[in-house]
Amino acid sequence: TYVHQVRNCLRARISNKKGVTLFYNVEREQANFGNLQRCYSVWNCPICSMTITEGRRTELKQGLDNWTQSGGHAYLITFTNSHHKGDDLDQLLTGQKKAFVKFWQKRKVTEILKRLGYRGRIVATEITYGEGNGWHPHYHMIFFFDHSIEAKSLKSFLSLEWMDSCTKAGLKSPDLIHGVDVRNGTYAAKYVTKWGLENELTKGHLKTGLNGSLTPFDLLRGASTNNHYKTLFKQFADVFKGKQQLVWSKGLKELLGIKKVTDEELVDDTDETSIEVRELPLKVWDLILKYEKRAHVLELVEKDYKNNTTSLNDFVMGLAQLYAGELIKNMS
Ligand SMILES: [Zn+2]
Repeated sequence: TYVHQVRNCLRARISNKKGVTLFYNVEREQANFGNLQRCYSVWNCPICSMTITEGRRTELKQGLDNWTQSGGHAYLITFTNSHHKGDDLDQLLTGQKKAFVKFWQKRKVTEILKRLGYRGRIVATEITYGEGNGWHPHYHMIFFFDHSIEAKSLKSFLSLEWMDSCTKAGLKSPDLIHGVDVRNGTYAAKYVTKWGLENELTKGHLKTGLNGSLTPFDLLRGASTNNHYKTLFKQFADVFKGKQQLVWSKGLKELLGIKKVTDEELVDDTDETSIEVRELPLKVWDLILKYEKRAHVLELVEKDYKNNTTSLNDFVMGLAQLYAGELIKNMS
């Protein structure tokens, strides 16, 4: 039923008495469909994940901006540990979870961070797969401090404590160089990716992997023709189902002035600034599905709203002509 949910997402209607509606959110400048079933899966559904990650990205960017503008500092910190091909993904993640519990229980860690002006963190779990080393789950975190920190000494301190925590949790210990990486948040925002730091955190599973390492969506894209990828994607989906993509530490959203919104609320777009633009006739909706043009239709709605144009009408006309052409070809 879970796969069924993802398949029906943004395809099957909720009420059969009504057509598919088009909405436009004036504040977020985003178009959305109404009266369609959704799956809300940030990990497995290409459509929901776009909406959710975009919402989370905006949130993260706003939080970072608010913090740095008020004189605070942010650092991008990556945690990883050694792993090998054949390591079980579920076991790796469970072990890492245990290691983090050990890590945050350390008096030394909490006391030193407190002395440095640490105020909270955002954690993103990211995962890649490499033919050489198998599953590679790692964690991007943003640490928020109320003043600036010497990145190198922070790295050595965190590395030692992280290595010890991994060993105590029964994991293979990373080395001093690779276990923890610390980068200045504002510096990283400019250089990590062309989209900025916040995308590195929220869209890691969507982008194409580098140097032969595969992201979950690489696996999903290849799954229809490659059984190995299909098995791997299933492993990933089973383990990640229901997990939150970004976890903010307690009280941090309030501190950074960010409103709490669930994944469901982001997808359903329940904002009051969302207005119904029009209802699509079912025949038109069938054509949009047939030619896989849902994403494009949303782009056109956004464009039309901003520029007061009628490109959606023109596009639907084009689809109808394309379809008519196919019908005539089948007749001859
Ligand atoms: Zn979905």
